[in-house]
Amino acid sequence: MSKDSKILNPFFKKEYPVISHGKRIYMYDEDGKEYIDGTSGAVLCSLGHGLEEMGDVLKAQTEKISFVYRWDCVTDVLEQACNKICEASENHFSKVFYVSGGSEATEIAVKLARKYHLNKGNHGKYKVISRWQSYHGSTMGVLSLTGFTGRRAGYEPYLHEFGHIPPAYCYRCWYNKEPKNCNIECAQALENEILSQGPDSVSAFIMEPISGMSICAARPRDDYYEKIKEICKKYDVLLIFDEVMTGIGRTGKYFAYQYFNVKPDIIALGKALCGGYFPIGAVACTEALYETIYNNTAEFPPGYSWAGNPLGCAVVVKTFEYIEEHHLITKSAENGAYLKQRLKSLHKHPTVGDIRGLGMMVGIEFVKNKSTKEAFGPEVGYSLQINQEALKRGMFIELSSGCDKGVRGDMIMAAPAFIITKEEIDKMIDILDETITAVEERNGFLSEAIG
Ligand code: PLP
Repeated sequence: MSKDSKILNPFFKKEYPVISHGKRIYMYDEDGKEYIDGTSGAVLCSLGHGLEEMGDVLKAQTEKISFVYRWDCVTDVLEQACNKICEASENHFSKVFYVSGGSEATEIAVKLARKYHLNKGNHGKYKVISRWQSYHGSTMGVLSLTGFTGRRAGYEPYLHEFGHIPPAYCYRCWYNKEPKNCNIECAQALENEILSQGPDSVSAFIMEPISGMSICAARPRDDYYEKIKEICKKYDVLLIFDEVMTGIGRTGKYFAYQYFNVKPDIIALGKALCGGYFPIGAVACTEALYETIYNNTAEFPPGYSWAGNPLGCAVVVKTFEYIEEHHLITKSAENGAYLKQRLKSLHKHPTVGDIRGLGMMVGIEFVKNKSTKEAFGPEVGYSLQINQEALKRGMFIELSSGCDKGVRGDMIMAAPAFIITKEEIDKMIDILDETITAVEERNGFLSEAIG
């Protein structure tokens, strides 16, 4: 990238395509080159690009009112946007707080949990336990909870440590067990951590129900969350599901928790909440939690200037309407099943170690040796090579690394917009197949083995 550019990019020496417009799952650069948006940006643009009705919604709302301050007044569109989340949860959640993104949502979730305990008279409960190899945002508060070591690196002096437990990561189980014969030790670890921290000091446990970029779409054994919920209940620890990535249809249901036999006390949302058309996030909680605060101080003042922004709320309402009108939750589930089934064909490659996920988020983990699961070292930059080769072939695909205890290991995440067709999924698979072949050949893997 030219040093003359005024953009402070993530990687100063990398060349970034200049995107001029987009339509559905495609983005186009200034020269008209077409790219498939294989991960919906940051697992975000769930409805695809270029929806004109979103522009109409923003224009109409701007003409009515574009900003009001949460401390002074409310709007009808905010009420509607809150209702949409509650309805999608079949009224499990009864109150919603809109913010401007995922990190703000997880921050507010933590503060809401703290307020609940303060209102209950449990003044000592403040710690939030989380998992290693997790991601909850980049502001310092939730970066403390994040267990994605690569994203914490360098900022540790600003972070607080409240306790991290091992991830639910069956492919590289920290207990060297297989799901079929384990005792979900990774869930039992929560009780050990609560006891070690002191139950009177623990406010909440936060986790991504299906892991995001830190261990690309890893999912626990089906009974993991029941065990987690049981432990939380025993010690009056609130259960926060960080569904910033998984929420609003990404996994084939409105919320990923709906796959498991548990319901969280608090949920954090972002990304797909706006379909990709406005920076917005939200936190929702149960009536029981709200009642506890209502019957005591009856206040929750923290927030941000932009909280409950009417423009964002109008986009949220339209996003839910669009999802319902086009049956996109069902489509996400069906397309997700097809995507995963087709991706499984890539197991023929000697470096494809694991393919996992739920709905429209499927992760691929690459290994140097399939039988030992030996990971590539960071000096190889294997997932970066995949990302770059895919880009040459016209597809953006997000990469990640550090799945092997934060130091080694390479992954990519396939997570296109819900509106993708089966033919377009086939196209993605063809590009990935060619991409992996090219990278394997460059790294000395026998092409005969590739087949
Ligand atoms: N939580 C999860 C699970 C995420 O995946 C992310 C972002 O990737 C965040 C929180 C932070 O969201 P944002 O980047 O919108 O602040």
